[in-house]
Amino acid sequence: MADYKVNEVFESIQGEGAFTGVPSIFVRLQGCPVGCSWCDTKHTWTVDPEKQKSVEAVMAEQQESEHWFLLTPAQLISLFANKGYKAKHVILTGGEPCMYDLMPLTNALIEQGYSVQIETSGTFEVKAHAETWVTVSPKVNMQGGYEVLQQPLRIAKEIKHPVAMQKHIDELDQLLARGHHQSGVLVYLQPISQQKRATQLAVDTCIARNWRLSLQTHKFIGIE
Ligand code: SF4
Repeated sequence: MADYKVNEVFESIQGEGAFTGVPSIFVRLQGCPVGCSWCDTKHTWTVDPEKQKSVEAVMAEQQESEHWFLLTPAQLISLFANKGYKAKHVILTGGEPCMYDLMPLTNALIEQGYSVQIETSGTFEVKAHAETWVTVSPKVNMQGGYEVLQQPLRIAKEIKHPVAMQKHIDELDQLLARGHHQSGVLVYLQPISQQKRATQLAVDTCIARNWRLSLQTHKFIGIE
Protein backbone atom coordinates (compact mmCIF):
# COMPACT_ATOMS: atom_id res chain seq x y z
CA MET A 1 0.00 0.00 0.00
CA ALA A 2 1.39 3.39 -1.02
CA ASP A 3 1.87 5.96 1.65
CA TYR A 4 2.89 9.56 1.50
CA LYS A 5 4.91 11.85 3.72
CA VAL A 6 2.65 14.82 4.36
CA ASN A 7 3.80 18.19 5.72
CA GLU A 8 0.36 19.76 6.00
CA VAL A 9 -3.26 19.49 4.90
CA PHE A 10 -5.59 22.46 4.90
CA GLU A 11 -8.65 23.84 3.17
CA SER A 12 -8.51 27.25 1.54
CA ILE A 13 -9.03 28.99 -1.81
CA GLN A 14 -6.66 28.37 -4.70
CA GLY A 15 -4.93 31.70 -5.19
CA GLU A 16 -2.96 31.02 -8.39
CA GLY A 17 -3.42 30.15 -12.05
CA ALA A 18 -6.43 28.66 -13.81
CA PHE A 19 -8.22 27.54 -10.63
CA THR A 20 -7.94 30.90 -8.85
CA GLY A 21 -10.89 31.32 -6.52
CA VAL A 22 -11.75 27.61 -6.32
CA PRO A 23 -12.21 26.19 -2.80
CA SER A 24 -9.51 23.56 -2.47
CA ILE A 25 -7.93 21.07 -0.12
CA PHE A 26 -4.15 21.51 -0.17
CA VAL A 27 -1.98 18.47 0.51
CA ARG A 28 1.64 19.50 0.92
CA LEU A 29 4.07 16.60 0.56
CA GLN A 30 7.45 16.61 2.27
CA GLY A 31 10.69 16.65 0.27
CA CYS A 32 12.22 18.73 -2.52
CA PRO A 33 15.79 18.72 -3.89
CA VAL A 34 15.30 21.44 -6.55
CA GLY A 35 16.72 24.29 -4.49
CA CYS A 36 15.01 27.50 -5.68
CA SER A 37 16.66 30.39 -3.83
CA TRP A 38 13.35 32.26 -3.41
CA CYS A 39 11.37 29.18 -2.32
CA ASP A 40 8.73 30.08 0.26
CA THR A 41 8.37 26.48 1.51
CA LYS A 42 11.97 25.65 2.43
CA HIS A 43 10.67 23.79 5.48
CA THR A 44 9.51 21.04 3.09
CA TRP A 45 12.92 20.37 1.52
CA THR A 46 14.26 17.69 3.85
CA VAL A 47 12.65 14.44 4.91
CA ASP A 48 14.18 13.96 8.33
CA PRO A 49 13.06 10.67 9.95
CA GLU A 50 13.38 12.36 13.32
CA LYS A 51 10.78 14.93 12.28
CA GLN A 52 8.04 12.34 11.77
CA LYS A 53 5.08 12.89 14.11
CA SER A 54 1.50 11.70 14.43
CA VAL A 55 -1.21 13.12 12.17
CA GLU A 56 -2.85 14.73 15.19
CA ALA A 57 0.38 16.42 16.33
CA VAL A 58 1.19 17.88 12.90
CA MET A 59 -2.39 18.94 12.17
CA ALA A 60 -2.47 20.78 15.52
CA GLU A 61 0.59 22.90 14.64
CA GLN A 62 -0.10 26.58 14.12
CA GLN A 63 2.99 27.43 12.07
CA GLU A 64 5.18 26.05 9.30
CA SER A 65 7.54 23.27 10.37
CA GLU A 66 9.63 20.41 9.05
CA HIS A 67 7.38 17.88 10.77
CA TRP A 68 5.55 15.36 8.63
CA PHE A 69 3.24 12.39 8.99
CA LEU A 70 2.70 9.25 6.95
CA LEU A 71 -0.71 8.49 5.41
CA THR A 72 -2.19 6.13 2.83
CA PRO A 73 -4.67 7.53 0.26
CA ALA A 74 -7.60 6.01 2.20
CA GLN A 75 -6.38 7.57 5.45
CA LEU A 76 -5.99 10.95 3.74
CA ILE A 77 -9.55 10.83 2.41
CA SER A 78 -10.78 9.90 5.92
CA LEU A 79 -8.85 12.87 7.28
CA PHE A 80 -10.72 15.19 4.86
CA ALA A 81 -14.02 13.80 6.24
CA ASN A 82 -12.89 14.10 9.86
CA LYS A 83 -11.92 17.71 9.32
CA GLY A 84 -15.30 18.39 7.69
CA TYR A 85 -13.75 19.74 4.48
CA LYS A 86 -16.31 20.72 1.84
CA ALA A 87 -14.00 21.45 -1.13
CA LYS A 88 -14.04 18.96 -3.98
CA HIS A 89 -10.79 20.13 -5.59
CA VAL A 90 -7.55 18.69 -4.19
CA ILE A 91 -4.17 20.30 -4.86
CA LEU A 92 -1.09 18.12 -4.41
CA THR A 93 1.83 20.42 -3.79
CA GLY A 94 5.09 20.50 -1.91
CA GLY A 95 7.87 20.34 -1.75
CA GLU A 96 8.02 18.50 -5.04
CA PRO A 97 5.02 16.13 -5.08
CA CYS A 98 6.26 14.27 -8.16
CA MET A 99 9.10 12.74 -6.16
CA TYR A 100 6.27 10.36 -5.19
CA ASP A 101 4.32 7.92 -7.35
CA LEU A 102 1.02 9.82 -7.27
CA MET A 103 -0.93 7.20 -9.22
CA PRO A 104 -2.46 5.46 -6.15
CA LEU A 105 -3.34 8.78 -4.51
CA THR A 106 -4.82 10.46 -7.61
CA ASN A 107 -6.74 7.28 -8.49
CA ALA A 108 -8.27 7.14 -5.01
CA LEU A 109 -9.19 10.84 -5.00
CA ILE A 110 -10.74 10.78 -8.46
CA GLU A 111 -12.70 7.59 -7.58
CA GLN A 112 -14.10 9.52 -4.61
CA GLY A 113 -15.30 12.33 -6.91
CA TYR A 114 -12.55 14.88 -6.30
CA SER A 115 -10.89 16.82 -9.08
CA VAL A 116 -7.12 16.77 -8.62
CA GLN A 117 -4.41 19.24 -9.50
CA ILE A 118 -0.67 18.72 -9.14
CA GLU A 119 1.72 21.64 -8.84
CA THR A 120 5.18 20.53 -9.91
CA SER A 121 8.53 21.99 -10.88
CA GLY A 122 8.62 19.71 -13.95
CA THR A 123 11.89 18.12 -12.83
CA PHE A 124 10.39 14.70 -12.02
CA GLU A 125 8.21 12.44 -14.14
CA VAL A 126 4.54 12.84 -13.24
CA LYS A 127 2.90 9.54 -12.30
CA ALA A 128 -0.78 10.32 -11.91
CA HIS A 129 -4.33 9.50 -13.08
CA ALA A 130 -4.89 10.74 -16.66
CA GLU A 131 -7.62 13.17 -15.53
CA THR A 132 -5.27 15.00 -13.19
CA TRP A 133 -4.77 18.68 -13.99
CA VAL A 134 -1.00 19.11 -14.14
CA THR A 135 0.41 22.57 -13.48
CA VAL A 136 4.09 22.82 -14.30
CA SER A 137 5.86 25.74 -12.72
CA PRO A 138 9.18 25.11 -14.49
CA LYS A 139 12.22 25.62 -12.33
CA VAL A 140 15.15 26.25 -14.67
CA ASN A 141 18.83 26.36 -13.58
CA MET A 142 18.17 26.00 -9.86
CA GLN A 143 20.82 25.08 -7.29
CA GLY A 144 19.82 21.41 -7.15
CA GLY A 145 20.89 20.97 -10.80
CA TYR A 146 17.67 19.30 -11.98
CA GLU A 147 16.50 19.63 -15.60
CA VAL A 148 12.90 20.35 -16.60
CA LEU A 149 11.78 17.10 -18.25
CA GLN A 150 9.76 16.53 -21.42
CA GLN A 151 7.11 14.31 -19.85
CA PRO A 152 5.65 16.85 -17.38
CA LEU A 153 5.57 19.50 -20.12
CA ARG A 154 3.84 17.10 -22.50
CA ILE A 155 0.94 16.43 -20.12
CA ALA A 156 0.73 19.90 -18.53
CA LYS A 157 -2.59 21.72 -18.86
CA GLU A 158 -1.01 24.84 -17.45
CA ILE A 159 2.52 26.25 -17.41
CA LYS A 160 2.84 28.82 -14.66
CA HIS A 161 6.20 30.53 -14.74
CA PRO A 162 7.61 32.53 -11.83
CA VAL A 163 9.02 35.85 -13.04
CA ALA A 164 11.28 38.42 -11.42
CA MET A 165 13.31 39.64 -14.41
CA GLN A 166 13.62 39.39 -18.21
CA LYS A 167 15.96 36.41 -17.88
CA HIS A 168 13.02 34.35 -16.59
CA ILE A 169 10.92 35.21 -19.67
CA ASP A 170 13.88 34.21 -21.85
CA GLU A 171 14.12 30.87 -20.02
CA LEU A 172 10.42 30.25 -20.61
CA ASP A 173 10.82 31.11 -24.31
CA GLN A 174 13.63 28.55 -24.57
CA LEU A 175 11.52 25.94 -22.83
CA LEU A 176 8.50 26.54 -25.08
CA ALA A 177 10.76 26.54 -28.15
CA ARG A 178 11.53 22.89 -27.40
CA GLY A 179 7.93 22.21 -28.45
CA HIS A 180 7.23 19.53 -25.85
CA HIS A 181 4.04 21.15 -24.54
CA GLN A 182 0.47 20.71 -25.83
CA SER A 183 -0.67 23.35 -28.30
CA GLY A 184 -3.56 24.56 -26.10
CA VAL A 185 -1.60 24.76 -22.88
CA LEU A 186 -2.40 27.80 -20.73
CA VAL A 187 0.68 29.92 -20.10
CA TYR A 188 0.71 32.06 -16.96
CA LEU A 189 3.35 34.45 -15.68
CA GLN A 190 3.46 34.83 -11.92
CA PRO A 191 5.46 37.70 -10.41
CA ILE A 192 7.75 36.44 -7.63
CA SER A 193 6.98 37.82 -4.17
CA GLN A 194 4.52 40.46 -5.47
CA GLN A 195 7.48 42.68 -6.46
CA LYS A 196 6.36 45.83 -8.31
CA ARG A 197 8.92 45.58 -11.14
CA ALA A 198 8.26 41.89 -11.60
CA THR A 199 4.52 42.52 -11.73
CA GLN A 200 4.93 45.24 -14.39
CA LEU A 201 7.18 42.98 -16.46
CA ALA A 202 4.67 40.15 -16.20
CA VAL A 203 1.74 42.41 -17.14
CA ASP A 204 3.57 43.85 -20.18
CA THR A 205 4.70 40.42 -21.37
CA CYS A 206 1.27 38.83 -20.91
CA ILE A 207 -0.32 41.58 -23.03
CA ALA A 208 2.37 41.29 -25.72
CA ARG A 209 2.20 37.47 -25.91
CA ASN A 210 -1.49 36.92 -25.07
CA TRP A 211 -0.44 34.92 -22.01
CA ARG A 212 -2.22 35.10 -18.66
CA LEU A 213 -1.28 36.77 -15.40
CA SER A 214 -1.28 34.73 -12.19
CA LEU A 215 -1.26 36.75 -8.99
CA GLN A 216 -0.83 34.96 -5.69
CA THR A 217 -4.20 36.32 -4.60
CA HIS A 218 -4.13 34.41 -1.29
CA LYS A 219 -1.13 36.55 -0.26
CA PHE A 220 -2.99 39.78 -1.05
CA ILE A 221 -5.92 38.81 1.17
CA GLY A 222 -3.74 37.25 3.87
CA ILE A 223 -4.87 33.64 3.75
CA GLU A 224 -2.74 30.52 3.52
S1 SF4 B 1 10.53 23.36 -6.59
FE1 SF4 B 1 9.04 24.37 -5.26
S2 SF4 B 1 9.36 23.51 -3.20
FE2 SF4 B 1 11.14 22.98 -4.45
S3 SF4 B 1 12.64 24.58 -4.02
FE3 SF4 B 1 11.51 25.21 -5.85
S4 SF4 B 1 9.81 26.47 -5.12
FE4 SF4 B 1 10.63 25.33 -3.34
